[in-house]
Amino acid sequence: MSVPKKLRQLVSERDKHRCAYCLTTEQNCGLRMHIDHIIPTFAGGKTNLDNLCLACFSCNVYKGAKQTGIDPYTNKTIAIFQPLKQKWSDHFTWDENKTKIIGLTACGRATVQLLKLNNSTVVKARRRWVSAGWHPPNE
Ligand SMILES: [Zn+2]
Repeated sequence: MSVPKKLRQLVSERDKHRCAYCLTTEQNCGLRMHIDHIIPTFAGGKTNLDNLCLACFSCNVYKGAKQTGIDPYTNKTIAIFQPLKQKWSDHFTWDENKTKIIGLTACGRATVQLLKLNNSTVVKARRRWVSAGWHPPNE
């Protein structure tokens, strides 16, 4: 679904030009972020500021139209992280090297797993960003 340019700009500024799920910045990855419908349109989600967030290509592809994931600790189906309703730091933190995202809650763990927030490609990139002092972004 296409998002009007002005709305896209508002979402991008509000989300500080970074993925609302993994916090990858446009400046680090060099790619324009996708616009994610947090609640998918088929499930009644609207194309407005309250239901859109920035998502990197990877998070957007793995999320697709899903709204739940599996918490690997309990194997229960859990609603994944909702960037506009929940605070990132309540559900996630960085590991000691700042290259991997650790889920702090069932929601956080399910989201890390579903969106593959620690896929080897991004972890390698984060290692370079950390060494350059570009990561992690401030909350
Ligand atoms: Zn992402």
